Amino acid sequence: MDVLRITPRGFCHGVVDAIRLANEAGETLEGPVYMLGYLVHNAHVVSELAQHGVQLIDFDDRLAGLDKIEHGTVILTAHGVSPAVKDRAVAKGLTVIDATCSDVYVTHDLIIDLAERDYQIIYVGKAGHPEPEGAIGEAPGRVHLVGTPDDVAALDLDGPRIAVTTQTTLSIWDTQDVIDAVRARWPHAEVHNDICLATQDRQEAAVRAADSCDLIIVVGSQRSSNSKRLVEVVRDIKNKPAFLVDDVADVDSAWFEPGMRVGVTAGASTPARVTREVIEFVEAFDPAPA
Ligand code: SF4
Repeated sequence: MDVLRITPRGFCHGVVDAIRLANEAGETLEGPVYMLGYLVHNAHVVSELAQHGVQLIDFDDRLAGLDKIEHGTVILTAHGVSPAVKDRAVAKGLTVIDATCSDVYVTHDLIIDLAERDYQIIYVGKAGHPEPEGAIGEAPGRVHLVGTPDDVAALDLDGPRIAVTTQTTLSIWDTQDVIDAVRARWPHAEVHNDICLATQDRQEAAVRAADSCDLIIVVGSQRSSNSKRLVEVVRDIKNKPAFLVDDVADVDSAWFEPGMRVGVTAGASTPARVTREVIEFVEAFDPAPA
């Protein structure tokens, strides 16, 4: 098959930094080393970290996860946690390594600053994802999570100081409706778009590539917000088929027809090795063997 290797794809700076910190901790520190939830949203990365001595404690409720750790080191994931989680880890006497991405901290700092200036903050994000949980925890009671225009309509907010910000790994296209709904209700609302550059760059490249491809494969996990958004932007904006695969085992040869051009990209937490195996499989695949 003809394959277009879409760039940029794969690891972003936040993921590279988090994996480096975790590997160093697993290999050099005495005592058990834990990651509190998936360090980054990719099972291949998590199992490679386990080989370097970093054990996974995977609870939706991070405070409940901390209760399972008696001693040693805890690594806070790239998506960030609320101050309550950090404080509990310190109070338990654990060594804390903070692998929160600097782009996530930009949003946390913004929320702290807005809350101190008496703003109500509307946060566009996905319920159940750890990143909103951490962001909301920076100013409990002041941050209101919304995912749709209907959520915005249901908010009971008033006053001159209203701001809106976003989870880093959404898409500019799927947040626009929600931000428009905020502006329609509160024209004076201060709008901050905190989708990170790595996420935007990968989405824009995938959308551009879709013009010259018949289908797009996104290598990434179902847990990975930015990977799922890559699939959505190709389908929704370019109306082209797009599929999310965790690795080469998920690639379905029924997708391919003779003469097709296939674009391959990868989420920000997908190891290059996993993406390379998908690319090599598709390149070698012959949809019309003699
Ligand atoms: Fe940071 Fe963006 Fe990468 Fe998340 S996707 S780790 S916010 S750079």
